[in-house]
Amino acid sequence: PNAFLDVRDLRVHFPTDDGVVKSVDGVSFTLQKGRTLGIVGESGSGKSVTSLALLGLHKGTRALVSGEVWLGGDEIVALPEARMRALRGSRVAMVFQDPLSALHPFFTVGAQIAEAYRVHHPETSKRRARERAVELLQRVGIPQPARRAAGYPHEFSGGMRQRAMIAMALVNDPELLIADEPTTALDVTVQAQILDLIADLQQEFGSAVVIITHDLGVVAETADDILVMYGGRRVEYGPAREVLKNSQHPYTSGLLASMPHLSGNVDEPLHPIEGTPPSLIRLPSGCAFHPRCPVREQVPQNLCRSDRPELVPFAEDPRHLAACHLTARISRRTA
Ligand code: SF4
Ligand code: MG
Repeated sequence: PNAFLDVRDLRVHFPTDDGVVKSVDGVSFTLQKGRTLGIVGESGSGKSVTSLALLGLHKGTRALVSGEVWLGGDEIVALPEARMRALRGSRVAMVFQDPLSALHPFFTVGAQIAEAYRVHHPETSKRRARERAVELLQRVGIPQPARRAAGYPHEFSGGMRQRAMIAMALVNDPELLIADEPTTALDVTVQAQILDLIADLQQEFGSAVVIITHDLGVVAETADDILVMYGGRRVEYGPAREVLKNSQHPYTSGLLASMPHLSGNVDEPLHPIEGTPPSLIRLPSGCAFHPRCPVREQVPQNLCRSDRPELVPFAEDPRHLAACHLTARISRRTA
């Protein structure tokens, strides 16, 4: 593998009584240290399941996982759970949408961060681990960190809890930080502060960061690359600037149009994408987005219903990939 994180043809399928749920179906991407990847999609697009597979959290479940996930020199999909457990919380750490569900209500925040440290540094004294917790609470911008370390999660505001969660995630200097909807539960001002904090910490620690979100606005400021998922597959992938300014997939364009602050038309009403995400058991034929696609008529011969578009490089920037018959035609004509 060339990149620090190298995901190749990842598939996560869950057998159910109704059929196989293909939550992730052939996803590939790479990420270097010090860079941020935004994985974007509606709920049910496969973005969260992708991140769980990066943490090896599918192990011990009925999920059928194939493909390769290279992290540094280790391939995670085939790694035994015992070795994965050693990576989790140390080389790879995760910040969740709802810190209350990840923090234990009966232990102080400081004790939980200290414990997360001692799990991977058993030789460290409790006292030193507590100090480390306070240092980190300070680093993530929690005022009076020594006092707050002795507080319980419910005594923290939503934003402060998310900061504490980030402190806990960073306690073992992870090389890869995964943040799944890290700001969804927070109000807009606090959201911006948390995103700034993640960006700052990344500069300082040099880790690779994956931000998972349904909101392109969240990754617009922070991501170097953006991967847009639909129905468990990649529909658009490339440098963030390219994807945002020059989106090639109608689904991405739809996500952008539903966010007036990104298009600059703050006064315009929101235009949510019509329809609902597809069933992951039976994806629509051809292009999985075709039942909702506002421009499918531009493609002749009902091709959108019959033929699945391949992910192809866009002619103007070959690092920018999209899976739409319209993109394919443009790149063939101009290439
Ligand atoms: Fe729309 Fe067709 Fe492109 Fe799919 S392939 S996004 S249906 S135009
Ligand atoms: Mg999710």
